[in-house]
Amino acid sequence: MIRLIKPYIAYHEVEEDFRKIFESGMFTKGEYVSNFVADLREYIGADHVFLTTSATTALTMCLKILEIGIGDEVIVADFSFPATVNVVEDVGATPVFADVDKQTFNMRPDDLEAKITEKTKAVIFVDALGNPSGIRGIKEICQARGIPLIDDAACALGSSENNIQCGNIADLTCFSFHPRKLLTMGEGGAIATNNPKYAKKLAIKLNHGATMVNGKLDFIDFGFNYRMPDLQCVMGIKQLQKLDDIVKRRILLQSQFDEALSLLGFKKQVVYADVIHNVQSLVFIVPEQCDRDELISYLAKHNVETTIGTYCLSNTTYYRNKYKQVQPVASYLEKNVITLPCYDDVDYEYICGKVQEYMKQLR
Ligand SMILES: *Cc1c(COP(=O)(O)O)cnc(C)c1O
Repeated sequence: MIRLIKPYIAYHEVEEDFRKIFESGMFTKGEYVSNFVADLREYIGADHVFLTTSATTALTMCLKILEIGIGDEVIVADFSFPATVNVVEDVGATPVFADVDKQTFNMRPDDLEAKITEKTKAVIFVDALGNPSGIRGIKEICQARGIPLIDDAACALGSSENNIQCGNIADLTCFSFHPRKLLTMGEGGAIATNNPKYAKKLAIKLNHGATMVNGKLDFIDFGFNYRMPDLQCVMGIKQLQKLDDIVKRRILLQSQFDEALSLLGFKKQVVYADVIHNVQSLVFIVPEQCDRDELISYLAKHNVETTIGTYCLSNTTYYRNKYKQVQPVASYLEKNVITLPCYDDVDYEYICGKVQEYMKQLR
C-alpha cells in the first residue's frame, strides 16, 4: 500500500535527548520546551509564541482572551477541518460561514465584507491545506474595521506570503502538530502573536490564571493547563530544523504530479506569486466527468491511499441543521477535491499512471 502520509521524524533522531530528559527528571517546563518556543519564534519571526496541546485548544484560547461569547459573531472560512468552527460554538458565539475562492480554496474578501455585522467580534481565516494565498486582503479588511484576525494556520507552518511567515501575518495565529501536519509531535499546537496585550493574557490563561506579583505567584484570573511536555518538544525541535528543506522537496513533487495530472484535466490549488505554500496536502480538483469518491476507491483497489481535500463546515450535519447556511463553493470543493500521497520516495509515476488508467475507462 502506498500510504497517504509518512512522518518526517525517526526514533534515532530523538533517542539521545529522550535519554537526557529521563536522566534529568525534567519532563515538563524544562529546557526542551523553552528551546522549542525560542526556535519557533525565530523561525516565524513573531514576538511571542505559546505552546498548547493542539490547534483546537490554541484557537479556543484565542477566542477566550478576546472575550468572545454569547451574542457575538465569528466569521469562519468554510472549507476547513471542523475544529475551526467547533471552537466558536464552544464559547457560545454564533459562527457565520464565509465562502471560499474556487482556485485558492481560501476565504473570499467579498463574502467576508458582506457578512460583517455589528456583532462580528473576530474573523478566522484558514490557510486551506497550508496555502496562505489571499490572507493579506483579508487582513486589510479586518484592520479597516478594527476586527481581530485569527489565522487558523494548523496546516501552514513553513508557508509564507510576501516573505512573511504564517504566524507573523494575523493578530493571532494557531498551529497544529498533529500527525497529519508536516511537523508532528504526536499531538500539539502553538499560538503566535506580535500583540503584547494578547501575549500577556495568554501567558496568564495558559498558567492556570496565575502570574508573579511582587515575587509571589498570584491567581489573578481563572485559567487552564494546555502545556506540551519536554519529550514532545524534542520531536518539534528536530523537525523544525529540516522544515524548509522538506517544503522545497514537496513543492518539487507537487510540480511533478501537476505535470502529469493537468494533462488529464486535474486542477491544482492556486498559489499566488508571492506565496510559498508548504504543500501540507497535495490536492487537485478532479475533472468534471470524474466522480471523486469512485476515484478514491479505484486507487485504493490499486494500493494507493488517498482521501478527500477537507470539509465544507456549513454542510456538516450539525451546522447544516442548526444554521442552514451551506456555502456553494466550499460544498463543491468538499465533493471534488482529492488528496494524493506526497513524501520523498513516493512513486508518483505509478500513482499518476493509475489515475490515467481510471480516466481512460470513463470514456
Ligand atoms: C488539523 C486542523 C485543525 C485541528 O488541529 P488539532 O491540532 O488536531 O486540534 C484545525 N484547523 C485546521 C485547518 C486543521 O487542518
